[in-house]
Amino acid sequence: MSEIELSRATADQIENMNRYQTSRRFHPFTCPNRGDGEHREFNGDKGALVATRRGWICPWCDYTQSWAYGFMASELPPDPLAMFSRGRNP
Ligand SMILES: [Zn+2]
Repeated sequence: MSEIELSRATADQIENMNRYQTSRRFHPFTCPNRGDGEHREFNGDKGALVATRRGWICPWCDYTQSWAYGFMASELPPDPLAMFSRGRNP
């Protein structure tokens, strides 16, 4: 699977990565230190990382990650489950 370096991503791509990260439709990137008792639930999961142009950052410690999956730089597709629930509850 192709990867993209956040340091070379556009603002739109960083925005898309955060949309993927917080969509609850994919398992978000999380900090490997999230079990230390100092990490909190934020952006959809305990220790979920935040995409920035300096890389993914952990809000709770100094962990960083430089890359994302390439597909995360593209616009998040429409949620098929949301369309389904709209159909049931017009
Ligand atoms: Zn962390």
